[in-house]
Amino acid sequence: MSISASTKPYAVLGHPVRHSLSPCMHNAAFRALGMDAVYLALDMPPGRSASVLPWLEEAGFGGLNVTVPLKEEWFQAVERLEESARLMGAVNTVLFRDGHSVGCNTDGAGFVRAVQEMPDFQFVGQRVLLLGAGGAARAAAMAAAAEQCAEVTVANRTPERAEALAGDVHRAFPQVRVQGLSLKGAEEAAREADLIVQCTSAGLRADEPPLLRARAFHAGQRVFDMIYSQHRTPILCEAEAAGAAVANGLGMLLWQGALAFEWWTGEKAPVDVMRRALTEAMTNR
Ligand code: NDP
Repeated sequence: MSISASTKPYAVLGHPVRHSLSPCMHNAAFRALGMDAVYLALDMPPGRSASVLPWLEEAGFGGLNVTVPLKEEWFQAVERLEESARLMGAVNTVLFRDGHSVGCNTDGAGFVRAVQEMPDFQFVGQRVLLLGAGGAARAAAMAAAAEQCAEVTVANRTPERAEALAGDVHRAFPQVRVQGLSLKGAEEAAREADLIVQCTSAGLRADEPPLLRARAFHAGQRVFDMIYSQHRTPILCEAEAAGAAVANGLGMLLWQGALAFEWWTGEKAPVDVMRRALTEAMTNR
């Protein structure tokens, strides 16, 4: 890739952001399509989004990704919001169009695409259990409800947050059955669920105890862990031992990026190239 004065910049903004795998995935895509563009990781502490936005636009940035802890701040900062961002209450992708900044959220759609890569899974009519009630759980809950699942149960360490998220899903999708629980009720709820999604930050270390043990799972279920730093997180090991089909969060990272790429560039994302770049980056970590 040769950088010149005409190279179009793109970036992910976050704090910290050095660990981000987005540059390797998007730069591989630009190379594969022969595009004169480069994707950077810019560390930006909270509190500066509104002032930095016009500068990034004037500097000619083609698009942005926004990650922790800036997604809610950019929700406030952009001039226009796509429906996906409104549903999530957060922005993870920004496009500059006709002199305006537009925010959308590809986390939910990325989650759906990743889960649909698991064998024989359709969301329609399924019972979905989410562990966690933060931003990632909100994206998964809204996306699963939009895909016409029958039931969304949210189990969280702080049960009030689970109830609040379940209430928001109910208001947006009244036809979907919802409930909010504490993690104490998660084992029983897991046995009844078709898809269990681990959306907490617990399990980031391989030696952490899993939130659910093998007795919560059985064959025929799908278990998806949003964490992608390990091939098999503690909860995925338990679920696999019980015969469930499992996947980690790398596919979600891939698809939220591929959908952002297509929105910015109007080009079909080279998903195989991006997946290979991510897998290699994970292997070399
Ligand atoms: P948030 O900080 O918004 O939410 C964290 C959630 O984890 C809360 O529900 C919190 O519970 C819960 N939690 C934290 N620690 C524990 C613990 N020790 N035991 C039980 N519950 C715990 O984070 P996000 O929702 O943004 O992210 C959650 C995870 O998803 C992260 O690991 C992140 O890396 C991953 N992620 C992956 C993506 C992908 O593309 N694969 C995309 C986005 C996120 P409480 O409410 O009680 O504090």
